[in-house]
Amino acid sequence: MPRLLLLIPTTTYRTEAFVEAAHRLGVEVVVASDRPNALQHAVQEGLLTLNFLKPDVAARKVAEYARRHPIDGVVPVDDPTTVVGAAIAKALGLPSNSVESTYAALNKSVMRQHLSQAGVPSPRYWLFLLDDDPALAARTVPYPSVLKPTILAGSRGVIRADDPAQFVRAFRRIEIILRTPEVAAMGDGARQILVEEFVPGMEVALEGLLIKGDLQVLALFDKPDPLDGPFFEETIYVTPSRLPAPVQDAIAYCTARAAQALGLREGPVHAELRVNESGPWIVEVAARSIGGLCSRTLRFGTGMSLEELIIRHALGMEIASLQRDRKPAGVMMIPIPRAGVLHEVRGREEAESIPGIEGVRITIPIGQEIVPLPEGTKYLGFIFARDETPERVEAALRQAHRRLTFVITPAPETPERASQAPEAGLQVDMMRH
Ligand code: ADP
Repeated sequence: MPRLLLLIPTTTYRTEAFVEAAHRLGVEVVVASDRPNALQHAVQEGLLTLNFLKPDVAARKVAEYARRHPIDGVVPVDDPTTVVGAAIAKALGLPSNSVESTYAALNKSVMRQHLSQAGVPSPRYWLFLLDDDPALAARTVPYPSVLKPTILAGSRGVIRADDPAQFVRAFRRIEIILRTPEVAAMGDGARQILVEEFVPGMEVALEGLLIKGDLQVLALFDKPDPLDGPFFEETIYVTPSRLPAPVQDAIAYCTARAAQALGLREGPVHAELRVNESGPWIVEVAARSIGGLCSRTLRFGTGMSLEELIIRHALGMEIASLQRDRKPAGVMMIPIPRAGVLHEVRGREEAESIPGIEGVRITIPIGQEIVPLPEGTKYLGFIFARDETPERVEAALRQAHRRLTFVITPAPETPERASQAPEAGLQVDMMRH
């Protein structure tokens, strides 16, 4: 029986789907996390604790382990484990991306460098350090621009600025995020702020699998809600794309070139692109599969999940078909209406009764604080739909969302919060959506 190593960061939504897929395949699983026993409640498998921020040390530890328990494949399940995953695969002699390529896909500034050197359409960019004077920096870039940390994900700290005053405010706001101990511990990248030209246009997400350097497109999602900022909260994803076939081909070609420019060759890629009159532009290419619980929208061949497909590829097992189940599908990452404590969610049954809706999953527990972007790191939840046309999928998601009511109460006052937001109201706030 093949043995699979799953690298699971504590912040991921994807543990369940990967562990389930591995069980379905009947492979033996070893789970590595970066905190001792963090996953003991969730899995019964062999557990390893690794320092994901020290890839060489982690790779040596796994190589040692593998002498007693040979490992046949490694799957990093989310962004924070892609680099360590490549280092481990290399130490074990397994086919995988190089460490350098995964780092290039993780650090947005290194990614821009590779893309621009290779001539892949990608916005112009400028790199600043936390110690730089934002007022001076603000005079050197064009507008509108987008400021972002280089090492975070999920649109955290990504802010559009239309003029120098907004630039300075955005810079300061990102600085606060980067100086939080948990982010500051991530190394030199936590001292960088990347500024890019804002690329207008509609956004798409391409889900792909690289096999020996060849990009196989698994799904192309349209994002029908405009993402114009100032913050960039994900909402609706619908596949198949409604864009004309030649545009879809151009998107796939652009993504394949981007993967090649970064040096990625094996495993899942998730790319975000903007499409405008000049064609597709790469916003980013990550060496992982789609985030959150969104992979539930995808099925391949005769009902294979995306996670099963990724595990099969990592173990060198046969993949009967990379063909997505043809029925249009979509997901809404439920937008966070405002900061506070999630008190109650109403209307779930009504939302689930809308034709085409497959389910609603609220992922923030009742009683927990919710933080919107650009500071937030968690999704409020997900709505899943499947129907005869992409239009119907989109309509079902919007209708289901309108049935949901989130009761959000103000978060308890802390000294920092009081000084940051003196105007925060005390009344209970009930919002639709
Ligand atoms: P993350 O990896 O944190 O999601 P991204 O760089 O992908 O960060 O940015 C998140 C979102 O912000 C993108 O999906 C896009 O909607 C928007 N965005 C980022 N950079 C740009 C840009 N240069 N032009 C236009 N939109 C952008």
